Amino acid sequence: MEEKTIREHIESNINTASSPSELKITDMRITNIDGAPKHCPLIKIYTNQGIVGYGEVRDASSATYALMLKSRILNENPCNVDKIFRRVKQFGGHSRQGGGVSGVEVALMDIAGKAWGVPCWQMLGGKFRDKVRVYCDTDVDGKHTGADMGRALKKRMEAGYTFLKMDLGIELMLDEPGCLNAPLGFLEDIKKYSAKALAHQKGSIDYDMMMGKNYETFTIPHYATGIHITEKGLDYLENYVKEVRDIIGYEVPLAIDHFGHVCIEDCIRFARRIEKYNISWMEDVAPWQYTEHFAKIAHATTIPICTGEDIYLHDNFEPLMKAGGVSVVHPDTLTVGGMLEMKKLGDLCDKYGVAMAIHMAESPIGFMAALHCAAAVQNVLAVEYHSSDVAWWNDLALGIENPVIKNGFATVPNKPGLGIDALNEELIAEHIHKKYPGQWEPTDEWNKEWANDRTWS
Ligand SMILES: [Mg+2]
Repeated sequence: MEEKTIREHIESNINTASSPSELKITDMRITNIDGAPKHCPLIKIYTNQGIVGYGEVRDASSATYALMLKSRILNENPCNVDKIFRRVKQFGGHSRQGGGVSGVEVALMDIAGKAWGVPCWQMLGGKFRDKVRVYCDTDVDGKHTGADMGRALKKRMEAGYTFLKMDLGIELMLDEPGCLNAPLGFLEDIKKYSAKALAHQKGSIDYDMMMGKNYETFTIPHYATGIHITEKGLDYLENYVKEVRDIIGYEVPLAIDHFGHVCIEDCIRFARRIEKYNISWMEDVAPWQYTEHFAKIAHATTIPICTGEDIYLHDNFEPLMKAGGVSVVHPDTLTVGGMLEMKKLGDLCDKYGVAMAIHMAESPIGFMAALHCAAAVQNVLAVEYHSSDVAWWNDLALGIENPVIKNGFATVPNKPGLGIDALNEELIAEHIHKKYPGQWEPTDEWNKEWANDRTWS
């Protein structure tokens, strides 16, 4: 072999990931897919050594939240996760606005893990468990009974799930005479403009349903709708929960989400009615910012109260914990600020004696990020899963277990980074979001984005 060929041969077999101190970020690109179960903006961060990190903006969000960070992270060493996080943290916000910073942080953790040869959970301090319990969010489209929901949940149990959550909202009573009252005409507005959004999985995340009057109606906060539940309405809801428990039994945990936009006082009346059905938690009974609303309901019922999927940064959970407003927090890795923020939130949970369940309605990238966090945070009850009815979801990422969830649990991987070898590009091509076409196309227009980023003078 000639000397040059020998050298090329040797160099081609060197793991260039063994030079992490020389790593530099060279590019960030995105692809928007749809239906997994929602719109998922996927992120790739590229480096000068061929290592690519995978991230994702929060479900039903915009890739812009990530792309606006690109110029701020180019040429940085991606292994300096905390340093880069602090550089871009100011561009994140609550709910979907936190998705850019969080998605970039996850991609950096993936790169750092691959470069140094360790799983993300190891970088978070090691793991507390080898398998993570998964709960499967369950909703039944359109008008239905508690027995219908009970049967849907029973199917989850038969598939191996050991923790359940259902949607139960006041929209079920929009056509039930005498169950709800509201400023006259408003319930008709709800039916006309937002019932569809309220009543099915893709509602609040469908672009067309969330414009104009639809948006205005849907975003009136709980305390301001003027909707009240009558005693007949409470009977209706209680009977729904009873029918569910009659089918699934009392041994399995059952949480409730998406109750609807009614004032906290009516949430309390409902909560007291269903205490005897052993509810694991009631979720997002008010906008999370209203600490006093949460404290009020938490002090008035024995049902554990939960919120958090829209809270950015771990320290924003503290007022709720301090006020005794939550027994369970429900962060999304892709809103809270990423994996290190999840770990810090876990410490805050320890301080206040609060449990954690992890919100997750994203692609396998988001799931793997949540899984590593759930392994590394002590008091995690379970991770949410929204895609059991999406046949192709498991095939999006290569190199992970397939299916990712077996008998209601996910195995924590021992591979470097998130544990994903590659994405299934052919499958991604089949599910590109029609409104946002393109697959990992150049994003050079974001290389020059700049402002004086100092937040003080
Ligand atoms: Mg929720």
